[in-house]
Amino acid sequence: MGNFSDRSWSDVLVHVRNHRPELFRSWFNNIEPVDLQNGVIRARPSTRSHYEYLSRECQSAFTEAAQHVTGRLVTVMFEEPAEGPEPEAPLSFEEDADQIKLSPDYRFEHFVTGPCNRLAHAACIAVAENPGRVYNPLFVHGSVGLGKTHLLQATCHAIKDRQSDARILYISCETFVNHFIEAVERGAVHQFRYHYRHVDALVIDDIQFLADRERTREEFFHTFNTLYQSQKQIIISADESPANIPSLEERLVSRFNWGLVVRIDAPCLEVRMAILRKKARLRCVELPENVVHHVAANVTGNTRELEGALLKVIALSQQYGGVINLDVARQAIGDHVPDQVKPITITDILNVVTAHFGVRAADLQGKRRSRSIAFPRQVCMYLARELTSLSLEEIGGYFGGRDHTTVLHAARTISEQKKRDSELSATLAGMIRTLRPVD
Ligand code: ADP
Ligand code: MG
Repeated sequence: MGNFSDRSWSDVLVHVRNHRPELFRSWFNNIEPVDLQNGVIRARPSTRSHYEYLSRECQSAFTEAAQHVTGRLVTVMFEEPAEGPEPEAPLSFEEDADQIKLSPDYRFEHFVTGPCNRLAHAACIAVAENPGRVYNPLFVHGSVGLGKTHLLQATCHAIKDRQSDARILYISCETFVNHFIEAVERGAVHQFRYHYRHVDALVIDDIQFLADRERTREEFFHTFNTLYQSQKQIIISADESPANIPSLEERLVSRFNWGLVVRIDAPCLEVRMAILRKKARLRCVELPENVVHHVAANVTGNTRELEGALLKVIALSQQYGGVINLDVARQAIGDHVPDQVKPITITDILNVVTAHFGVRAADLQGKRRSRSIAFPRQVCMYLARELTSLSLEEIGGYFGGRDHTTVLHAARTISEQKKRDSELSATLAGMIRTLRPVD
């Protein structure tokens, strides 16, 4: 029975008798302790009426006694004796508690880095080497298919590799929500808390799905606090930055900002090519360089689409005895390079901003900090974040070699201000229309 003995159970009974004599009954000696699991001691009385008395009157007295005896935050639950209805199915989060479901493909060595994801990758490595100590929480965001799940799982793998007994809970936000709903419905919130709060790292993917569920959010908030206070690592991903997730309450937004928030951007051509080579190698497929280039140049969306295209090429090649060449690739994915909208450059942005504010580009790119210059410069940085795929470092480079935190701060400041200031909001919308007339 776990590490909870009959002896300890007798101590619990003695404690109840001494501290709550008004509740104590002689038939308490017939209660059978069943087991101790996940912080819950289950005990089975011998009759239904005993069960009713115990669960109505004695739950907290027994819990208090058991905590005193074990020195741990355990709970006592009484089980209905056998003549009651069938025992319920096990709770789903306890059922699969021992196995974290990680894809073996999602490891750091299979992840390609480039300007689009370098910061996020470095942050995950640092966390894996020193969980709970460097960036806590770590919040990774970016749109769908850009590698968030891959990075989160790679971090879990790496923590496990270094410390095989680390308790890591990797879970999608939906599963967290479902587990909580189940726990509430089945009166097992205690087990739920025990399960989620006794981990070394809690990794939740796609937290945006938490946004409109008040009670689950509340529960998550307390889980977060408990883990944070005991310096356990928390890693979260979402499709937006914390402040941009609709209806995520302020207190959660501010907590997410306590740690490090990093964004993943869409991969550039070189990174897409490197990803294709990696994915092909993972499947033991040889891809000629011209095929790599053709696919990467044609499939410019997210990485998941890139992988889909690769699979199409491989599938079609089966009809040609496994030969992969440019013809096969063309046939599989077509060679219609989509009408590329000409990418927006920093120069385009500078033109629009200098025209609006009546300032000189050289000033925006120089060192001056006066407000008349600093504000338009922040607007430039904001637009560069929104409209180009340049990294924070690259944007900083265009504006007097400022570092990435300055760019991040500028973009955030403008995006915050825009929410409150309708005039600014209209100005920005006008600038974006000028820069991107097609959509
Ligand atoms: P997200 O969770 O952001 O929607 P995923 O992590 O599921 O994206 O990534 C989609 C697919 O693209 C996965 O197969 C993943 O391995 C792959 N992928 C994304 N980014 C990279 C990268 N930088 N290097 C290698 N594979 C990547
Ligand atoms: Mg994902």
